Amino acid sequence: MNYQHVLEQIADDVAATPGRGRSADYIPALASVDPSRFGIALADTDGKVYGVGEWRTPFSAQSITKVFTLALVLAQDGPTLWEQVGREPSGNPFNSLVQLEYENGIPRNPFINAGALVVTDRLQTLTGDASEDLLDFLRAESGNPDLGFDIEVAASESAHGDRNAALAHFMASYGNIRHPVPTLLDHYFRQCSIEMSCADLALAGGFLARHGVRADGGRLLSRSEAKQINAVMMTCGTYDAAGDFAHRVGLPGKSGVGGGILAVLPGKGTLCVWSPGLDERGNSVAGVAALDRFTTLTGLSVF
Ligand code: GLN
Repeated sequence: MNYQHVLEQIADDVAATPGRGRSADYIPALASVDPSRFGIALADTDGKVYGVGEWRTPFSAQSITKVFTLALVLAQDGPTLWEQVGREPSGNPFNSLVQLEYENGIPRNPFINAGALVVTDRLQTLTGDASEDLLDFLRAESGNPDLGFDIEVAASESAHGDRNAALAHFMASYGNIRHPVPTLLDHYFRQCSIEMSCADLALAGGFLARHGVRADGGRLLSRSEAKQINAVMMTCGTYDAAGDFAHRVGLPGKSGVGGGILAVLPGKGTLCVWSPGLDERGNSVAGVAALDRFTTLTGLSVF
């Protein structure tokens, strides 16, 4: 398979597709990013990276980081984590509050904001510094020691963070959050603000394609745990569009409102696409289109 050629073909096809959606504006620091920007990278399981467009440009990873915090906690907690957070699609927007009361403060899955707050809270308990722990892991896996938080984005989100604060307080009332909410939010917003390129993210997600094995050959997750994360990405990684994403793309995927989507080709590699224009569910319009083209051109969906 000539991945470079495939990615070039996809970039041409996507460039010809009109309508790119809108950059996330509920985080003011992200609103000004041009929605028509585009990059795509593929890292194979040996760490060789192919890319087209702005594949080396750092952007706000946002909810894509939820995959990595989940992996770090699952690696230490194993199945007990699933007592605090579910693994069912929510069918609701990523920042929705409605199910939490019916379901006694247990979020549907780790990829909606409520679930990610629980996972970050747990990582804070396990490590004493959830955001630094995540950053260290991402630097190691991507091989990029320059990765860092975007303090401006984190502050911007914090200043407009009432909904995440409401989610955290509500779950704390059920005893499903252990740290003070301001401390938790501080770590959560910093995690979301980490700036990474498509190449960085594709490399960092390599352990998901290598069935739990890290870039240095050490094991992070059991084969079964890596399968679990991929499965939850497939069913929950794009929120209330997860069914449509599975239908169109057929790969485990995780989106973020910075416009990135990480997708896994189990046993083969990891893809990351970036284009900041979002649809109304918070997924990159051109990103989903590009991944749709990828599996159509290559036949490399998991089905
Ligand atoms: N930081 C964002 C939030 O909490 C992440 C959401 C996302 O990327 N879907 O709202």
